[in-house]
Amino acid sequence: MQFRPTGPTPRGPDGAGRVPAGPSCASTGVDGPGTRFVLFVSGCPLRCLYCANPDTWRLRDGKVTRVDEVMAEIAKYRTFVITSGGGVTITGGEPLLQPRFTGAVLRRCKDMGLHTSLDTSGFLGPERTTRCWPTPTWCCSTSSPSTPAPIGG
Ligand code: SF4
Repeated sequence: MQFRPTGPTPRGPDGAGRVPAGPSCASTGVDGPGTRFVLFVSGCPLRCLYCANPDTWRLRDGKVTRVDEVMAEIAKYRTFVITSGGGVTITGGEPLLQPRFTGAVLRRCKDMGLHTSLDTSGFLGPERTTRCWPTPTWCCSTSSPSTPAPIGG
């Protein structure tokens, strides 16, 4: 599959990224340890049949948001998630399609002393970039291979 990241590819740690229009949410036990602030990001090149978030697939459907805005929201929950043994999980979509945005959020979360988790399929597309984000504390991935072709038809 030919995939070329589109949309606002953020430049620098205070860049911007695209996230779904809906609010971020809190979760417990499924997105990493403890209670977590879960940040969804837009865009995924895969089309897994079991996907729970197909609304995140198209990058251009996301709203543009700045890292500063995201961090201001996360900061509100910092004490709560740390006290619960939790942290911040970035999921999608495929967070690594927006590596500078994802990297900047991870970096700043670490600076705030927050545990970080990255929920990724591991598929980066041909323009993979692995140099610009810090290694998350915890890394999840989809539990089975994607199934790109529809069943039936
Ligand atoms: S990799 Fe994740 S977000 Fe992308 S289609 Fe598969 S389950 Fe959905």
